[in-house]
Formats: sequence, structure tokens, C-alpha cells
Amino acid sequence: MPKTSSRLEVFPDSAISYMVRLAEQYHAINLAQGVPDFDPPGDLLAAAENAIRSGYNQYSSTWGSLRLRQAIAAKQSHFSGLEIDPDQHVTVTVGGTEALLATLTAVTDPGDKVIIFSPHYEAYIVDSRLLGAQLIHIPLHPPALTFDPDDLRQAFKNRARVLILCNPANPTGKVFSRSELQIIADLAQEYDTFVLADEIYEHIVYPPNEHTYIASLPGMFERTISCSSVSKTYAVTGWRVGWAIAPPTVSAGLRKVHDFLSVCAPTPLQEASVTALEFPWSYYEQMLAEYSARRNLFLGYLRNAGLNFIDPQGAYYVLVDISPFGFGDDFDFCTWMVREIGLAATPGSYFFHEPIKNYIRLNFAKHEDTLHAAGQRLQRLKEKI
Ligand code: PMP
Repeated sequence: MPKTSSRLEVFPDSAISYMVRLAEQYHAINLAQGVPDFDPPGDLLAAAENAIRSGYNQYSSTWGSLRLRQAIAAKQSHFSGLEIDPDQHVTVTVGGTEALLATLTAVTDPGDKVIIFSPHYEAYIVDSRLLGAQLIHIPLHPPALTFDPDDLRQAFKNRARVLILCNPANPTGKVFSRSELQIIADLAQEYDTFVLADEIYEHIVYPPNEHTYIASLPGMFERTISCSSVSKTYAVTGWRVGWAIAPPTVSAGLRKVHDFLSVCAPTPLQEASVTALEFPWSYYEQMLAEYSARRNLFLGYLRNAGLNFIDPQGAYYVLVDISPFGFGDDFDFCTWMVREIGLAATPGSYFFHEPIKNYIRLNFAKHEDTLHAAGQRLQRLKEKI
């Protein structure tokens, strides 16, 4: 058989898929993967059905349907205070996943340096390596998850082309403060670097924390590409509708890439996404209240089980410290937990660049009943400490 590509080496064996398979095998509750187990708002289900029956079944414009780009521009302008233009700035992609790859393709050359914070979302590594870029890792030191501004300056000095910022962050739930963002923004301007802001959890930020769009800091719009999607905000991860908001020259570049990667995001689901993007502003308050309730419920169970964790300021993951259990390796712990406790988590080391093996990531974007069931299983962990 002919040899397959050596490029495949950049794709890791996904720890998440492994844990999901194990969870199925042992009938465990799956808190490993970042998917909600509840339905999206009913209006969206009707809008999707309606779009298919109303003739939206062929390719859309490769930039994305005009109605959707207008709706994205209006919502993002409202929340960020920026004036976003649907024609010049917005490109609709196949989820945030494609927005990230298309953007990185458009702004890097092979050999360029890409700065990412560690722990990181896995796609940043794969995409950068696929494009032949070199990664510079900046540690976010647990448990406070602060970074050293001198480390960051050094990374910029090394002539990085782009910094990837996940805010709010997966897997930590960190929300970057305005002053942290200002440090990044000042360096990006001093060293003429792009910022790729993955803001897919932009609306899941727990008070008193606040989300600041880095593109809204003075001088940043012209060097920032903001990626997001309908996946998390409207609980439709399977729709595969996302977008990149970028200055005109970068938009032109990433549109070319996007055209050849996927042509367009699913047309009927782009149409249905207009309904989502046009929800009243109260939708976002309601959605956040529901996530806050899930977070409080789940963190309460963790506390009762005597577990230490990094308090998530945003998103819907929590990193739990497993040091008291005496496992040298978080993979071993997760495998043991699926079998013995019936709970699936993701080993934290999957996300860290540094050799940190004492965290696991749990996802609490779950139905209340699932969280109660998981919480009861967590109590069984208490006896093992
Ligand atoms: N960025 C982050 C930080 C994520 O957690 C995810 C999904 N897990 C994505 C991007 C991609 O999301 P999607 O392609 O569904 O928009």
C-alpha cells in the first residue's frame, strides 16, 4: 500500500475521542467533550426546518449569506461597540474551527512564529503545525492563570506573526482582564503582530468578570481577527456555522482560503442562524443565568466532594486538581474514573505544553439532571482521597 502523508503526524490521537469511547463502553456520564446535552431554543429548530422547506438548499455566497452577515455585524457591533461592516469585515465559515484555520492560513507563512498561551485549545497546535508555523508557548501559571509580561515581550521580540488569544478560555475558563488585554495589545502594536481572538465563549462570562473584545482596544481593530460561532451561544454545535471578523485586507485573504476549504457553511443553517443572531438582547442574559445556575450547581458538588479546582470565570469547563488521589498521570486517573466512578473527564495534560499532569477538565454544559447524577458520582470520589 502507498505511504500516507507524514503530515498526519501533526494530528494527535484525540484524548477527548478516546475518553468518549471509553465512556460509552462503561456507560459513564460523559463530561469530557464540550457539547451541551440539552436542546437549542425551539425557535431555532423551527427556523432550520423552515429554511430547508423554503428553498435554501444550494451553495450560498462564499462570503456567507448577506442576511446572516448583516445580522452578525449588527450583533457584534452592539456588543463590542465597533462599527462592523457585513461586506468588508464579516466572513461566514464552517464553524469557528474553519474560521481559525482559514485565518491562520491567510496570515502566516511557513516558518512563522505563532504565540499561544498554555494550556490551550487543541486546534491551535494542529492548525499551526499543519501550516508549518513554529509555536511559542506562554504559560498561564495555575492556579491563578497569570502570565509573565516579560515572557510575552520576549515572544513578540522573536518576531511572532500572530498571537492566538482564547478569551474566555477553554480549558481553563479564564477571562482575560482589560489590563492583561492591554499588555497584549501594546505588544502587538509595538511589534506589528496580528491577534487571532477566538471568542467562541464571548457570551458565557460569569459576573463580576466582563468580556472585553480585544479588537475594541484603541489601535487593535486593524490587526485583530475575531472568530466565533453559533455553536456555544445558541447550543447548536452541530450546525457548523461560524465567522471571522477581520480588517478588509485580511478578510479578502481568508475568503479565498475559505472558498477552497469549504465553499460555504450549510446554507439552510446560515438562514436559520439569522433567527439566532436576531434574538433580543435579553436572550444573552437568560442564557448566562442558565449557565450560572449550572456552574453553581456543579461547583457545589465539587466543593462537597472536597475537590480543589480553578474557579471558571467564563466558558463551561472546570479544571479539577487531582493531586490528592496520588496518581502520577492524569490519563491513568481519567481511565480509572470512567471505570470505577462512571464519570468521563479529559486529562488536563492534553492541553498543557508544560509537564503538568495534576488536572482534569470537566464540562458542565449539561442538563440539570445530568449534573445531579454526575455530582452524586463525584461524592464517591471523596472516599478515595
Ligand atoms: N474554539 C474553542 C475554544 C472551542 O472550545 C471550540 C469548540 N469546542 C471551537 C473553537 C470550535 O467550535 P465550532 O467549530 O463548533 O464553532
